[in-house]
Parts: sequence; structure tokens; C-alpha cells
Amino acid sequence: MKKLCVIIRKERLNELFTMCFYILTKTFYTRLRNIHYFFSDKDGSYSDRCCKDLSLRTARIFFLLVNIIFLFPTPSGAHVKIRIFAGQVPSSVLFTVREGGYFMNCFSGGTYSLLTSESVLIAKHGKRIAVKKNGLSSFVCDSVLFSGVDEHAVFMLRVNTNNPVRQCYAGDLLCIPDLKTVVLVNMTDIESYIAGVVQAEGGPGKHAEYLKTQAVIARTYLYKYFNKHHTDRYNLCDNTHCQVFNGITGDTAIIASVEKTRGRVILAPDSTLIISAFHSNCGGETSPSGYVWLTDVIYLKGIKDPWCASSRNAQWRKSYSTEEWTSYLRKSGETTGLENISQMTCSQENRGYEYTAGNISLPFVKIRDDLGLRSAFFSIIVENDSVILVGRGYGHGVGLCQEGAMEMAKRGYDYREIIDFYYTGVIIADIVEAIQREEADNQYL
Ligand SMILES: [Zn+2]
Ligand SMILES: [Zn+2]
Repeated sequence: MKKLCVIIRKERLNELFTMCFYILTKTFYTRLRNIHYFFSDKDGSYSDRCCKDLSLRTARIFFLLVNIIFLFPTPSGAHVKIRIFAGQVPSSVLFTVREGGYFMNCFSGGTYSLLTSESVLIAKHGKRIAVKKNGLSSFVCDSVLFSGVDEHAVFMLRVNTNNPVRQCYAGDLLCIPDLKTVVLVNMTDIESYIAGVVQAEGGPGKHAEYLKTQAVIARTYLYKYFNKHHTDRYNLCDNTHCQVFNGITGDTAIIASVEKTRGRVILAPDSTLIISAFHSNCGGETSPSGYVWLTDVIYLKGIKDPWCASSRNAQWRKSYSTEEWTSYLRKSGETTGLENISQMTCSQENRGYEYTAGNISLPFVKIRDDLGLRSAFFSIIVENDSVILVGRGYGHGVGLCQEGAMEMAKRGYDYREIIDFYYTGVIIADIVEAIQREEADNQYL
């Protein structure tokens, strides 16, 4: 009889019982009859709960394998929990099975099977959840878990807000009541999630090498910030606070690009996952991270970018009357020299940190934030009664320039060369290798 041995680190028990245990039993219970657990201390020692006959060496191999396969998120068959519709407050949600079948587990209120095209209405009801299914009387329960019968199950959600939205997801869905809303958590395969992020952040119809670049960036972000919402009991949310994810994609070019870079992530020279920042267009020069976030990062330097100058977001202009401009400066704390408007010009041939004119000094990033400008990379000219900002690029300018990367891909550069160009001195590696490197480094701490 086959046996599955699971090593559990004691300090990760909470996480296990909320995530890993469910994944393990759901995925393997039908194939493996026995699941044996080891409980490991922080220093790697462990106590055998079930398998008395295992040798120390065998147990150590199990320890390594299971740590890599199950207790860390890995590219093969691992899952992630994403809070979906995080930026909205849905009054009710219509769940419909699109492919395969689902079990609806109500706590406590029984389990029901759902076939393709069957729908269930979920609504918040006081501190609990009301459930309405065709052919069944409405009832109230504490939470609902829609669990796919296999890995191919897909569901559609229609969220009833002022602007109703329909989106499709793979995997399972947990619905929990919370203050004014129903919290919706999608537990889904990591690579399928990455494809959805590439669709949302990179867009369809792009060159394959560019899509691969976005896939590696999205995967790096996921692993780096896997515990960003740890206290909320999910991993990431689906809006710009984390990564935009509007459900699964059927775009075959995106799916292929994700598959061809499966498990690939970007590491800094010290083998840690990088902050994979990107923006729409750098205007010809990326920004050092210190200009934007006040922290210099070794791989997020300012570099000259010859690839994005003729792209859509390369240039912009915005005009203010002299009264509007001086009024803004006054609100920003500047009090002297405002009457001499002709001295308010400035030129950013190369990216600078601060706008200085007469006695005025303001960081360009602050001006961008205050006035909602497309970028902080602009010069100022004065014409008659107008102050004109002549700008370049779109976004914060740190890290990868998307329009430059698209142009590089069109000209024959592959995703590795594109990533190397925008992130200084990085390494592209497999996530399993990255974890092993990190563990090796930690042994010396
Ligand atoms: Zn978030
Ligand atoms: Zn650029």
C-alpha cells in the first residue's frame, strides 16, 4: 500500500490547517490511502508519529522532499488563495458551474452536488450567509465552500453591485461573511493564476517574449509577497494593492507563455526574490528606486532606454495658468519668489530628483502625486500666461518599462535579455532552486 509521509514544521501548524491540509487531503486522498505525519522542530529535528520503521536517512529525504513540495508554494500543482472582488462590496453573488461539477459544502448545513450550468445565490444575512439553490428551500449558514470535483472545474461569478460583473475562475471558492460584505476567496492553481495576471497586467495580443517577461514578473511578485495578506487568511487580493487578477484567461498565447516559463522567477544577486516593479513607459530613462520610494535597491537603477521613445505613452503635456501654478506652489509651502514666473522653468534632460527654481525646491515625485501627472519626468516652460509641463513616459518609472519591453520582444530579444536589460545584475532561476538557495543561506545564519 502506498503511503504519503508529511513533515510538518511546528511553527507552521496554523498555516497547515488552513491551507496545506486541505490541499493535501483533497489532492491525494483518492490516490493514497495512508497519510503519515511527522512533526518537525525549527532546527529540523522531528518526531515520527506513525512510521516507526523508517530509517533516519529515508526520513531525512522525506523531510526535504515534502518541505519543497508541500510546505512552500511550488510551481507544480501548488495553489494560492486570492481574495477576489476585493475592491467591491457585493450585496450578493451568483455562483454558476461552467465546467465540470462542484460540491457545495455549507458550514453547518450539509453538502450538495452541483452540475454544469447549475447556479446558487449567496447573500449576506446578518452575520451569516443565506443560500438559495433551485429546488431547495433557502437556508442560512456560517460559510460556504464550493469545491471542484477535479482540477478542471470552472465556475462563473456574477457579483451584484452597481455595475454587475461576470468573471470565470478555476479551483475552489470560499464565501465568508464579514461586516458589510461577503469575502470571496478563490483557491486556484498558481500557474493558472499567473496567466490571469498576465492577461490583466500585460494585455492580450502581445509578442510571446513580452508575455513570458510579464509571466516571470507576476510569478516573482506572487512568491515574494505570498504572505502579504497572511493575517487575512488569504495570500493576495485581486486589485492593484497586490496584482490585478480578473479571473482565468482562455488566451492561448498567454497560457503558452506561462507554461514555457513555468516556475521561473527573478532573483537578486543575493539570491532573494526581487521587487519586480514595472510601469507603462519610462520616457527614455528609468528611475532609480530611491527617487520614488526613498530606498535605493541595487537592481532597480536608472538606465537609459532606447526602446520606448516612439511608443504610445512616450510623451505628454499639461498646461496651467500662472495663477494655478503659483497657487499650487503656495499650497506646497513655497512663499517667496512666486511673483517672478519667468524663473519657474526647469529642464529634465536626464531624470532628476527635485524641481528647483529660485527659492523653490520640490521633489518631482511629490508634484506628480499632488497633480495626478502621468509621470515625474517632465520639464517646465513658461509661455505668455501659461506654465506648460512637457512630460515623458507614464508611471513611476522604476524597473521594467512595458512599452520598451514590447519593442525589444518585437526586435528579437528573448524574455531573459529583456529582464536582464531592465533589472541590473539579476538571475533568472526556478522557484524550487531559489528556495534551496535560500535554505542553504539560512543554514549559516
Ligand atoms: Zn492586496
Ligand atoms: Zn522605457
